[in-house]
Amino acid sequence: MLADLTARQLATAPAVSALDDACESRLWWASQWPQGAPYVAGLVAQDVQDALFETMARWPLCLACEDGPVHSLYISPDLGGPDPVWVCEETGEVAAALGYLGRPSAARGRLSG
Ligand SMILES: [Zn+2]
Repeated sequence: MLADLTARQLATAPAVSALDDACESRLWWASQWPQGAPYVAGLVAQDVQDALFETMARWPLCLACEDGPVHSLYISPDLGGPDPVWVCEETGEVAAALGYLGRPSAARGRLSG
């Protein structure tokens, strides 16, 4: 998660504190419901995305589409997992696995098979 924030130069103090808050509440949630573990990373990403949208900016922006208005990526599946990926909200194409926004080529290699 922090890797994704850093990849888009958004590892700012408010963003990192939003990440900390989200991790804390979701880890508590996972401790109450161990079967939810595969969803935690994706849910944390959604929490941070919501927090950033309210306070600062859309994150993460889609860099794959060169035409049209600026738009975001979202976590798929909606439940947060398992195997959460960032998907373009315009085309529905997978941009990168969660945590791999800074390494799109590696993620594509992993996902294209
Ligand atoms: Zn796009």
